[in-house]
Amino acid sequence: MGVLSVPDQLGLRCRGEWVSKLAFADDLVLCAENAVDLQCIVDRAMPVVKACGLRVNEQKSVSVTWLACGKEKRRIYDHRPTIMVDNRPIAAMGVDGSFKYLGVKFSPSGREKLCCGLRASLETLRSSRLKPQQKVFFLVHNLLPAYTHELTFSRLHAGTLKRYDTYVRAFVRKVLYLPKDTPTTFFHASTKDGGMGIPSLRWGVPINAAKRGPEDYAHLRKYRGIEKLVTTYQQVLRIFRKELWDSCDGTGLRSHKEVPQAHAWILDGSSMLRGHSYINCVNMRANTLFSRSRAARGRGIPHQCSRGCPQPETLNHIVQVCFCTHGPRMKRHNGLVNYLKRGCEQRGNTVHAEPLFDGPSGALKPDLVVYGRDQIAVIDVQVINDQFPLKVGHGNKVSKYSVLREKLKGLRSREPIFTSLTMNWRGAICGASAEELLGLGLISRRDLKVLSVRCLELGVDCWRIHRKMTSFSGRVMYDPG
Ligand SMILES: [Zn+2]
Repeated sequence: MGVLSVPDQLGLRCRGEWVSKLAFADDLVLCAENAVDLQCIVDRAMPVVKACGLRVNEQKSVSVTWLACGKEKRRIYDHRPTIMVDNRPIAAMGVDGSFKYLGVKFSPSGREKLCCGLRASLETLRSSRLKPQQKVFFLVHNLLPAYTHELTFSRLHAGTLKRYDTYVRAFVRKVLYLPKDTPTTFFHASTKDGGMGIPSLRWGVPINAAKRGPEDYAHLRKYRGIEKLVTTYQQVLRIFRKELWDSCDGTGLRSHKEVPQAHAWILDGSSMLRGHSYINCVNMRANTLFSRSRAARGRGIPHQCSRGCPQPETLNHIVQVCFCTHGPRMKRHNGLVNYLKRGCEQRGNTVHAEPLFDGPSGALKPDLVVYGRDQIAVIDVQVINDQFPLKVGHGNKVSKYSVLREKLKGLRSREPIFTSLTMNWRGAICGASAEELLGLGLISRRDLKVLSVRCLELGVDCWRIHRKMTSFSGRVMYDPG
């Protein structure tokens, strides 16, 4: 890899003298005041390079020789190859040549003006035959880090960086079929806060550039409404989180932080999901699947449930409340119970599904009673509203089934434990539930991810059935008049 810096950058302001430089062997740069001196340095450097086990790649090495003359910044470039390495000539670069040094493009006259090919790269990635989750993975782990590095060494302008972020969001919108009114912060907020975790070039690059110096880019690190300059990307993520949680679509994502590892499927390019399932799960999580209530925002069109319920047709209503999705809702519940049951049995426990107990105020039927070697666990599964605190939902279940303590006491050496698997329809898992189930060894950390995805996938089935169904409830018909 070859590189050169311009003479001004190195303090070599030679008038009427040839200046030679050679770059080779993985970002090594050698400079001299003329070609003969440079050849001497090369001849002295070669034994050291070879002793280190390195080899010069002539294909990637380049030399530049120029003569500065006149008052203006005029230079005459000598394009004849004059430098020899191991008796082989090294290509000489002309005035219009360029090369990359540590990922940044240089021309003989200095750092090249950034001609960011981000848009073309995004288009290539979008049209590739990869799954959507693989495209997002490649974007976050390969493409954006490469451009972040290049941009960090460039002259920065807020407008340019904002435009690049717009390109990235447009790419993600196209790949994941997200609507145009998806909150901007949903793309950039961290996955554990409910976002997509796509790095923001507008904020990430100036912070990196300021750390590197010498410019502090203070004017690019002022966030509206915040007095202090942002110094770390974590601060920016906190701002994004607040804005996302304050938005209409993002307010239901507040519980996602309780179990961050459950949301790893967003960015790990997971192969456990089909492409269309991944798209639907992301849309379900973002609350961007079609509903009349969402479509009617800012417009005076009917937004009551199309199946006749006297309630606004929100995604929460469709998935959690509507009479026509009762069947798939039960299927979602059973799917989660069966997954948990299978996991418990594979770990050597005896599991009773939906056993009937006589409680003080009627019959009680917990979803699972797990008989371990020295402890019994009573587990109930529930998927609740995204506005309801998961912790409260979990507490309600625990207190409901704790009345069975006397019945189960004495069957095993340790006290029985009452817990729940409490989730909301947007894939968040209650922290207390996860901790207890992990502590009992009934699930693994990977299971948390699978449970979150299964909840979303089966929730999408509810939405799809609601969209396809044509029945109408006459008893509770909505009267727009
Ligand atoms: Zn309804």
